[in-house]
Amino acid sequence: MIYDLIIIGAGPAGLTASIYASRYKINHAVIGEVPGGLISEAHNVCNFPGEIEISGFDLMTKIQTHAQKLGAEIMTMEKISKIEQKDDNFNLITESKKILETKNILLATGTKRRQLNLPEEKKYLGKGLAYCATCDAMFYKNKIVGVVGGGNSALTSALYLSEVAEKVYLIVKGSEFNGEMVWVEHVLNNKKIEVIFDNGVEKLNGENKLESIDLSVDYQNNNNLKLDGLFVEIGTEPDKLLIEQLGLITDKNYIVVDKEQKTNRSGVWAAGDITTNSAGFRQVITACSEGAVATFSIFSELQKHK
Ligand SMILES: Cc1cc2nc3c(=O)[nH]c(=O)nc-3n(C[C@H](O)[C@H](O)[C@H](O)COP(=O)(O)OP(=O)(O)OC[C@H]3O[C@@H](n4cnc5c(N)ncnc54)[C@H](O)[C@@H]3O)c2cc1C
Repeated sequence: MIYDLIIIGAGPAGLTASIYASRYKINHAVIGEVPGGLISEAHNVCNFPGEIEISGFDLMTKIQTHAQKLGAEIMTMEKISKIEQKDDNFNLITESKKILETKNILLATGTKRRQLNLPEEKKYLGKGLAYCATCDAMFYKNKIVGVVGGGNSALTSALYLSEVAEKVYLIVKGSEFNGEMVWVEHVLNNKKIEVIFDNGVEKLNGENKLESIDLSVDYQNNNNLKLDGLFVEIGTEPDKLLIEQLGLITDKNYIVVDKEQKTNRSGVWAAGDITTNSAGFRQVITACSEGAVATFSIFSELQKHK
């Protein structure tokens, strides 16, 4: 069986693309490692039209159900590890060694979380070090935690953790936040959150689990901060694996696409957080929008070759 389109990624961009593909009757499948994508980790989404307040997980369950109701074949928990050209088509090879053949590809693989790049990071992962407050906050009931970062993810994570933990240190690299004002105000008015500006994490310490961190600059005459947990919320970046295999043109690792979401390679489109479009405003709504535009463009292309 040869698909007309395989969408790689089951986040907002990929699933929206699938909704449009089903409506256009494009023979397609969605393959995504994490069902719902990155937003499934968000505790609260308050900027998606029609949803005043919803968890990222609930929002994505709704969008996935919508795609499935329209008949989409969605394979989650599957990772594409290799893409090869096969005549005019592509072979997509999964980690479990399944091979899927398709005429066209939509890359909607989003981004992955940035790490601190400290040598001890692996040692403490799951032992005090975490990358997702929504997933792990409950382990820090009445404990002292830190959050690293100054954007929306860090601000919302600090707020969520403040509902559970006894105290939250928010460690910000610069002298100001770069998130939405509404979150900044909530953080600054929250008595459980103590903001440490112009600082960073230099070292993680602890016998078998994280017990303290060394800050890069002294804070209150001491560079050692005792805490039970540290949440790293310093943004995300694209995974280069498939981009490099396909030889796609990038700008700062993001795929360069035209206004129809076409990449430099024939038969390959890209949508969502992984692209340079939407003025770099990487949100659910812009990912959905790019997914819709991409499918419209793919449909037009398929019509030409009928
Ligand atoms: C903590 C947090 C809070 C956020 N809050 C908001 C918010 O309130 N409002 C908002 O609009 N945005 C928010 N965002 C941003 C939002 O999550 C992203 O803009 C959005 O998820 C991008 O969607 P996407 O489909 O492009 O990529 P993603 O959601 O990242 O989905 C990518 C998909 O591709 C899959 N994938 C990747 N590589 C492969 C591979 N090789 N093979 C198979 N599958 C693969 C992934 O598993 C996943 O299914 C938040 C982000 C974070 C981290």
